[in-house]
Amino acid sequence: MTTSGVTREDAVAADVLDRNDPLGAYVTEFVEFADDGAYFDGNSLGRPPKALAARFSEFLTQEWGRRLIRSWDEGWMELPETLGDRIGAATLGAGPHQTVLGESTTVWLYKLINAAVSARPNRSVIVVEESNFPTDRFVVEGIASQRGLTVRWLRPGPSSGLDLDELRAAAGDAAVVVLSHVSFKSAEILDMAACTEAVHDAGALVLWDLCHSVGVLPIQLDAANVDLAVGCTYKYLNGGPGSPAFAYVATALQAKLVQPIWGWMGDSTPFEMGPNYAVPSGIRRFLSGTPPVLGMLAMQETLEMIEAVGIEAVREKSVLLTEYAIALYDRQLAPYGVELLTTRDSARRGGHVMIGHVAFPELLPRLWAGDVIPDLRPPHGLRIGLSPLSTTYREVEHGMAVISEGLARKEREGGGRPG
Ligand SMILES: *Cc1c(COP(=O)(O)O)cnc(C)c1O
Repeated sequence: MTTSGVTREDAVAADVLDRNDPLGAYVTEFVEFADDGAYFDGNSLGRPPKALAARFSEFLTQEWGRRLIRSWDEGWMELPETLGDRIGAATLGAGPHQTVLGESTTVWLYKLINAAVSARPNRSVIVVEESNFPTDRFVVEGIASQRGLTVRWLRPGPSSGLDLDELRAAAGDAAVVVLSHVSFKSAEILDMAACTEAVHDAGALVLWDLCHSVGVLPIQLDAANVDLAVGCTYKYLNGGPGSPAFAYVATALQAKLVQPIWGWMGDSTPFEMGPNYAVPSGIRRFLSGTPPVLGMLAMQETLEMIEAVGIEAVREKSVLLTEYAIALYDRQLAPYGVELLTTRDSARRGGHVMIGHVAFPELLPRLWAGDVIPDLRPPHGLRIGLSPLSTTYREVEHGMAVISEGLARKEREGGGRPG
């Protein structure tokens, strides 16, 4: 490796960091994906823990295979709540009976935003941040068009984050404000407590999307007085492709909300098969259909790891990983004109780093072919997602070096810097 910027010292530094990593032992608990690769997309699809083989096998032969329908009474039926409570305690700062697993994040957004709008009958505006993930924006637009509401877009400045006065003003006649805790693009962390307070000052409800923060940094839903939240489990919680998302509804609010998909699992007495829907008290009123039990298995492995080390330790490593990636960016990628699209302020940065260069779309297939796996966010942002439990510093060093070499090769081939 003789490309400009990439040095032997970086590799040595990575090895030292790995040797001193208090979470280092967890990396070997995940299924290996390459001899010499770098997985930079644990924030999109987390890697599977090896222990899943035994967990799946036990589930197949014992719970599903032998206990069959009796398993519904032996834990399956309560799993959306029992597992929800564990996620709440280990990662969300949520007391019991407020977190439940079930639908995709998209469907939870639909259910909870509708419920929030119905709870504020005199308000006809939904506020959403422009840089939100597409599904959040689309669900909001869909609900607005179905119910004759107005969408008000928040447009935060590129570096200043969300202005609290602007947020308070925008929420003045809104039923609900939909915000992402960590931006899926820039990784910017919003101040959950301050934003929630501003929204409440204006008399609106707040819904937080936690997809890019759950499992990688501490969240304090109860302490921040949050009303509603949703989040993915297949990202930092390694729940596997399509594993069910969670919803959080603050205890004080539960009785005031009715969600729009009335199903038998959200009924107060599902097995009486009665003539009418009766909304139960508690978090189960937000369920609709049969719990996706199979989809809730894998995330339990990662949850056990987080319960063992504590989310603070996960966050500590996450900050070190992104700081290390930015240090490597400065030496190896900035010289090629690559932009840093994530803040250098660690306190305001989530678990990934976004960098931009016009050559990235063309470079990506070559990176993937060589087992260096970031993802691309249009138009030409490369996301370096660093899942603390499954990522080594050596991997970060290797992946950044390969990206740097790819840019060097492009310069040589193209006879100059592109764009
Ligand atoms: C990943 C992600 C989603 C995904 O929603 P699904 O319904 O699981 O497809 C939603 N919102 C945000 C912010 C995300 O990062």
